[in-house]
Amino acid sequence: MPITTALLPTLLQAIADVIEANAEEITALDQAIGDGDHVYNLQRGLNALLLESHTLTQLDWVAAWQKIGMTLMTTVGGASGSLYGTLFVKMSKAAAGQPITLETFADIFTQGVEAMKQRGKADIGEKTMLDVLIPVAISLQQATAQSLSVSAALQAVTHVSLISVEATRELLATKGRASFLGERSRGHIDAGAKTAQLMINAIATVITEQLASPA
Ligand code: ADP
Ligand code: MG
Repeated sequence: MPITTALLPTLLQAIADVIEANAEEITALDQAIGDGDHVYNLQRGLNALLLESHTLTQLDWVAAWQKIGMTLMTTVGGASGSLYGTLFVKMSKAAAGQPITLETFADIFTQGVEAMKQRGKADIGEKTMLDVLIPVAISLQQATAQSLSVSAALQAVTHVSLISVEATRELLATKGRASFLGERSRGHIDAGAKTAQLMINAIATVITEQLASPA
């Protein structure tokens, strides 16, 4: 089964469900070193995307990612809104005129994450969502280099995101609100890294099931 935008309603619902199921835990993380609104910010964006999910299925990936990016920018708010907005708008630009394969997707996603780094003036090791997204981008590149199947690549990505989110616990925050706490930011997982990991795992699960289902 090809992965088309017809899968977007299922993907968005799976993401909304996993954020809802973990809302309390994530909010506690964001209250510890942020201002506690991260789940609420994301849910505002996800609700807006769910409302337009049927429209999204009428578009190709280039147009869908552009629309998703614009919706996130205008609805999520907070640092995460402009960062996720930037990710999808850049992915749309990077994907223009190409078929979406594992190989092109690895490059498209990497370009999106690069744009986020520039947008937030942040890099790996600063205790943000980038501490999950950058390793995931690298993992996708490696999967391509090793000619892994899509399902093997998704397994690798899931594994990498779980290790990466846990590793944010001992990092010192140098970007975002948590950086105001200095050394006191250590000892807590970053909320944005946690939601990135949960969303990636939800996407990986849906796509893996889709690939396994008979055409
Ligand atoms: P805000 O911090 O503005 O209240 P959110 O609560 O929605 O926004 O998101 C907080 C998350 O955003 C953090 O947990 C962190 O992962 C991420 N973040 C904050 N600043 C940056 C940045 N400059 N670059 C990348 N990610 C960032
Ligand atoms: Mg916040």
